[in-house]
Amino acid sequence: MATATARKPAKAAAKTNSRPATSVKGGKITYFFGKSKCDGKGDMKGLLGGKGANLAAMTRIGLPVPPGFTITTEVCTYYYDNGKRFPPNMAGDLAKAVVWLEKETGKKFGDPKNPLLVSVRSGSRDSMPGMMDTILNLGLNDATTDGLKAATNNGRFAWDSYRRFVQMYGDVVMGVQKRHENEHEPFDEVMDELKREVSALQDTDLNEGDLKELVRRYKALIKERTGKEFPADPVKQLEGAIGAVFGSWMNERAVLYRQKYRIPDDWGTAVNVQSMVFGNMGDDCATGVAFTRDPATGANVFYGEYLVNAQGEDVVAGVRTPNKISEMAKDPIIGPAFRELERVRKTLEKNFGDVQDFEFTIEKKKLFMLQTRNGKRTALAYVKIAHDMVKEKLMTPEHAIRSGDPEALNQLLQPIFDRDAYAAAKKEGRLMATGLPAGPGAASGAVVFTASKAEELAAKGQHVVLARIETSPEDLRGMIASDGILTCRGGVSSHAALVARQMGKVCVAGAGEIHIDYHTGKLTCGGITLKEGDPISINGSTGEVINGAIATADSELKQVLVGKTLKPADSPVFQYYNSLMKLADKYRKLGIRTNADQPDQVTNAVAFGAEGIGLCRTEHMFFEGDRIIAVRQMILADNEVDRKGALALLLPHQQKDFEGIFRALNGLPACIRLLDPPLHEFLPQHDNEKGQKEVATQLKTTVEKVMQRVNELHEFNPMLGFRGCRLGIKFPEISEMQARAIFQAAAAVLKEGIKVKPEIMIPLVGFKKELDLQVEIVHRVAGEVMKETGKKFPYSVGTMIEVPRGALTADEIAETAEFFSFGTNDLTQTCLGMSRDDSGSFLPSYQSSEIIKTNPFASIDTTGVGQLMKIGVEKGRKTNPDLKIGICGEHGGDPSSVVFCHTIGLNYVSCSPFRVPIARLAAAQAALKDAK
Ligand code: PEP
Ligand code: MG
Repeated sequence: MATATARKPAKAAAKTNSRPATSVKGGKITYFFGKSKCDGKGDMKGLLGGKGANLAAMTRIGLPVPPGFTITTEVCTYYYDNGKRFPPNMAGDLAKAVVWLEKETGKKFGDPKNPLLVSVRSGSRDSMPGMMDTILNLGLNDATTDGLKAATNNGRFAWDSYRRFVQMYGDVVMGVQKRHENEHEPFDEVMDELKREVSALQDTDLNEGDLKELVRRYKALIKERTGKEFPADPVKQLEGAIGAVFGSWMNERAVLYRQKYRIPDDWGTAVNVQSMVFGNMGDDCATGVAFTRDPATGANVFYGEYLVNAQGEDVVAGVRTPNKISEMAKDPIIGPAFRELERVRKTLEKNFGDVQDFEFTIEKKKLFMLQTRNGKRTALAYVKIAHDMVKEKLMTPEHAIRSGDPEALNQLLQPIFDRDAYAAAKKEGRLMATGLPAGPGAASGAVVFTASKAEELAAKGQHVVLARIETSPEDLRGMIASDGILTCRGGVSSHAALVARQMGKVCVAGAGEIHIDYHTGKLTCGGITLKEGDPISINGSTGEVINGAIATADSELKQVLVGKTLKPADSPVFQYYNSLMKLADKYRKLGIRTNADQPDQVTNAVAFGAEGIGLCRTEHMFFEGDRIIAVRQMILADNEVDRKGALALLLPHQQKDFEGIFRALNGLPACIRLLDPPLHEFLPQHDNEKGQKEVATQLKTTVEKVMQRVNELHEFNPMLGFRGCRLGIKFPEISEMQARAIFQAAAAVLKEGIKVKPEIMIPLVGFKKELDLQVEIVHRVAGEVMKETGKKFPYSVGTMIEVPRGALTADEIAETAEFFSFGTNDLTQTCLGMSRDDSGSFLPSYQSSEIIKTNPFASIDTTGVGQLMKIGVEKGRKTNPDLKIGICGEHGGDPSSVVFCHTIGLNYVSCSPFRVPIARLAAAQAALKDAK
């Protein structure tokens, strides 16, 4: 993985040479939001970022937003395209914006009597919570701090604001940070030292004089670490802060986040400069974060938390555990603001049409809105909120579909604790603590205390629970690697909870009874001590933390659909899921099939909504029971007669397999592929002499004979060797036996009154003649079986398109083929000239060097492989306009590939049974994208 610093200069330098610095595209750099003027709108997220656009939208609907201005994302793009320089008109426009803001607020930048103070925050098109930098209280210096003191009559507040600003600025803009994972934050260390000297227990015990001294020491720390003075000029401060926010677009965690969520690097971030309001001026002030509904469960409850006399960062950083928002109603001083907040909650949902996650501040009992965005939510919350809000007519059905992450639906299939094992653990007294249920589900694994350890153990295949006092964005990698996250401090909107919710991780936050000592590597709670590696279990739905491992059980959805141990009516989760899936089915144009080769897989896939089989790999059946013996006999046969003898033994097994599949499908189509893999895959290889001896005994032949056949079948490039239709062309009797097994099964099941729709698929076709030869066999056998059984069954014959020549000559192939199915696993290998099984050694470097953006074996390489697919579709349909075309490579279950398949006009996608819901939602999103 390349670090951000490694990527930055290369990118900036490359573009600097090619494009001279002129100006940003539209020329307009700043967009105002205030009472006298509001330039932006809610639908300008691309230009103003999510935060900027929504600040404008809130201003327009009359919500109390402190005025400010947004610097566009185009400026950020310009900044990186031009060697990290601002556009030439930046300084002038910035000065004009500051003058406007001064007028709007009646305050002045740098005025000791009435200073204008601002916050400087990032804001990309899609929110990237906590990944980029923020500066608060900008505009403070020694003189304006005195002015703030005079204006508020509160010296402690003024100096506390100043010390926070110096700390943030020193960290974010001037780079004074801890130098390794287990070092303390340098500013915290200075503060702790002072607290010890003056015997202060809490930060709040420091008086005005102490804070003045702290500012002095902070400045000295900055000078010592950077050799530079802390800047006193607010304009210099503002320029530095804007540069730092742009710079944070390329910090390592932001880059990692974008990779995970596929946010393009060239979107850039906007910067929001907003006049400050203070939640920390006294007990009539507060700050908080709230969701209009519960983002963990989706329940329609006002959900959030606040702290009296605090600044926003205190809530999010998890340093103090905040109060529940509902408690605010009872507060004698700020209680009235809660009623206004409840009105805001309704207004937001009505206007934004989705659950909002918003930040607010109460300054001297008056409410201010600092930001709002669509709330990130768990999959459970997503399906419930979509179900409820569409019913309440607050959300459009289209938004319900669009706003979901198809991949996240996997969360609904994740295990929960086994009920009995869980009850037993609690009965045994293993419940250690209860924190806040911040990310639903069950996680059990080795406890670790650092992100790096989590990564290390997860790489070895271990399940891990990352336990931290509180998490910070630096822990992101470890959080990705862990099964669950546990924190001792912080509330439901702390960093840990926020990230866990988005990633669908199990999370218990703010389990205050637990103590973690990073130095000794121990977690203690009551009398229990756990060291790194000891088993621990957390229940993110209840907040419970349990000592030791606990077995897990199937999710509710699986219990309803797969195990059938839970009635649909008894599972609200199933009902929410089902209503969303029905909605998706209304919009999608693509059919959804499944890759399955056993009846139980088919039953599961159909329960998840599959409309047929898109790929049945018949070779998988060759390994079932003792039929591998007949397969090997067939492979070792020296002549056609012996080979046919062995195939005759296989036939009844294959027929039975197909009968089971047809019954499970109950009339849905079954696309069955004839034998594809190279024959050597069915024999023990060179290094397995013992296995070869066993085969010799089984087949009553000599080990030398087995060895000789293994040697004959050895290939230098098996992927490009004797496989696919090449097998059936050299040994037509194999295709004949398989076709006979399929059709005899069809006739038998039809006799039972069950409809059948077999589709025979020929693999690895690159020449029309290959297909012709195989199709001839299939038609002949079909005719024979119909005659023998007296049953007429419908069937069709088509081909996989999985080598470039097949795609390029699709017009010829379509003269014979009744359908195509893109085998994008092989098509990717053959188009890129890259063996999937050997790509592990270089693909990660290709990704970090940005040769490729995403793994082409997971997500279709649309520019290369995609072009072949487009050609295949166009040429195929030129010959046969009604040609049915699907995809059965792994990409059929990848949301972005599903969108691509829709775009190029495929009829269906086929994926593994448990990805069917993902494909259904992705297909609906694709159709809606089209409709836009
Ligand atoms: C493919 O190549 O995409 C395909 C489905 O076939 P297999 O993965 O079995 O080679
Ligand atoms: Mg293939």
